Amino acid sequence: MSEGMRRAQVLLPFPGEGLFDYWVPEAVVPGQIVRVPFGRGAKLGIVWSLKADPSVPDERIKPVEAIWEGLPPLPEADRELLEFTARYYLAPLGEVVAAMLPPALRRRKREPRSKGRGEEGGTVPAGPLPELTEGQRAALEAVPRDGFSATLLHGITGSGKTEVYLRLVAECLAQGRQALLLVPEIALTPQLTERVHARFPSARIVCLHSEAPAGERSAAFVAAMRGEIDVVLGTRLAVFAPFVRLGLVVVDEEHDPSYKQFEGVPYSARDLAVWRARRWNVPIVLGSATPSLESWASCEAGRYRRVALSARASGQPLPTIELIDTAQTPAEEGVSAPLAQAIEATLARGEQALVFLNRRGYAPVVRCGHCGWVSRCPNCSVNLVFHRDDGRMHCHHCGYRETPPRSCPECGALDLQPVGRGTQRLEERLQALFPQARIARIDRDAVRTLAQWETLLEEVRAGRYDLLVGTQMMAKGHDFPSLTLVGVIGADAGLYAAEVRATERMFQQLIQVAGRAGRAGAPGRVLVQTEFPQHPLFRELAAHDYAAFAARTLAERRALRLPPFAFQALLRADDEALEPALAFLEAARTTGREIAGREGWPVKVFDPVPMRLVRLARRERAQLLVEGGRRPALHAFLERWVEALRGLPHPRSLRWRLEVDPLET
Ligand code: ADP
Ligand code: ZN
Ligand code: ZN
Repeated sequence: MSEGMRRAQVLLPFPGEGLFDYWVPEAVVPGQIVRVPFGRGAKLGIVWSLKADPSVPDERIKPVEAIWEGLPPLPEADRELLEFTARYYLAPLGEVVAAMLPPALRRRKREPRSKGRGEEGGTVPAGPLPELTEGQRAALEAVPRDGFSATLLHGITGSGKTEVYLRLVAECLAQGRQALLLVPEIALTPQLTERVHARFPSARIVCLHSEAPAGERSAAFVAAMRGEIDVVLGTRLAVFAPFVRLGLVVVDEEHDPSYKQFEGVPYSARDLAVWRARRWNVPIVLGSATPSLESWASCEAGRYRRVALSARASGQPLPTIELIDTAQTPAEEGVSAPLAQAIEATLARGEQALVFLNRRGYAPVVRCGHCGWVSRCPNCSVNLVFHRDDGRMHCHHCGYRETPPRSCPECGALDLQPVGRGTQRLEERLQALFPQARIARIDRDAVRTLAQWETLLEEVRAGRYDLLVGTQMMAKGHDFPSLTLVGVIGADAGLYAAEVRATERMFQQLIQVAGRAGRAGAPGRVLVQTEFPQHPLFRELAAHDYAAFAARTLAERRALRLPPFAFQALLRADDEALEPALAFLEAARTTGREIAGREGWPVKVFDPVPMRLVRLARRERAQLLVEGGRRPALHAFLERWVEALRGLPHPRSLRWRLEVDPLET
């Protein structure tokens, strides 16, 4: 026993439970950040509990290397956040804490200097503030300020949701408390940071996302722990930022699937944000023009309040949405005559037009006109997409690239054709139709970094382009003042997809992209090409009737007992071949059914199936769905099951993971 020391459990970012015993000075309290010797190096960890594991003899325990002085302990509420995340997502605690501690900080020897944007606090809004619209005023009145409440702010595009957030932030800062603002994408962080900074010039704001320089992320973490930050703004990883005086949580574009983390611990930042607000007993506002059906159902069930902003802040009407029946008016190389005419008229008025097609590349497949051979990825079960810019075929899943063969590898014919249409081909077509137009293509091939994106946004706003061709990157909450026409191509693709959420995603995307039109000045117009103008989804779209869409779709899901009326978890396994993956899942199914049967838990354990995209990056993948009508029973089952899974034998090359509340089944 060392003098003046006691044993404690320290939580380390480690692919496992991550709890290890160390000697710590008597005065140490849970939550303190410490550096400990580990293997041949050192690791940063959190003092987790002063209880120690008596099975480890004293002499095997090492003392901590250093206590991070000057850093207050991580508050209990944040330690509970880690525990909750581990419990809810059935993930080892050591992996969860890895999501919270910035990687650079973990490697660091000395404490970084903390710095936020803005200096020494002071959170008085810069005036003059815009006069609130009636809707905004009503929305602000409807958000309770005392204690926890979840409010779904269903505000149409351009209704001024951000102004509502800013007023709530103002109140929060005036009370000396901190606000957490989440956005789904890195590309949305600069504009919100700008607006928050312009409103609160002296507030200390940090912006957290995965592209932020490593040093900045560490510094932000330290500053946040010291309470030297007023506003934390960022993408999903910001949901783990430490707080000492959290007063408000806002999740913008709450429907966006990007809130879901896929690598590591598969968590939903939106759902964790709600948990955090409840734990801190503070209000959370979830904003969207197209709320997730989960949140919509939570309103119907009385768990969330719903507040609507149904007019644009500018007083502008919503754009008119017209359907072009391509069964009647065929689209020539993607563009129908009515759409071409509308683009021409828009350009003639000196306004901007956007053509939306959610598929990048030139052509989704290269095909032999003679024998029907198609270009396939050797590593994945998908076609290779032809890209005109580098003249190669790309796999959009694993990144594999290949020069198209001169002749068909099957029959030798020279008749190889790019088939179908992506944004590059559409751009080519539009350039041919409008030779004078300055066209910008906006997709992940053209815009790879945040810096490129910001430059492009500037150029578009400055009127450097007339015509934009874009994928769903364009459908997110950006403001393009001179954009008055939006054309939508290829919308039918999502209509009959097998995914539970395919039509929800499609409807959300279409409403969002339509919302880019006519946000300032001139009124907007949206033309949607479809072969199925009578489909209820398109009629609801044309009427801007999200409520009708939600009611109809929720009724369908209720009848089929699909989420949000059932709770799901997905066990996925992958290996070099399909058989071992399926064999593992079959064993998991047998064990699962035994457990559920023995305990009488109303949980359905389905049969394993190969995934739709069965081969990805040379690995074969299969999955098994588990469903329960009630969350507590499902979770009781999952806890027991995951323990059993950890003991199931499998080949070394096999990997498995469990995903709770999967978005794609
Ligand atoms: P949303 O996030 O709901 O799509 P924004 O908050 O971006 O909408 O607001 C759309 C536009 O309306 C912005 O240009 C914003 O500055 C403006 N705006 C918001 N509220 C008001 C207001 N009360 N008076 C005047 N303009 C407003
Ligand atoms: Zn051929
Ligand atoms: Zn591939």
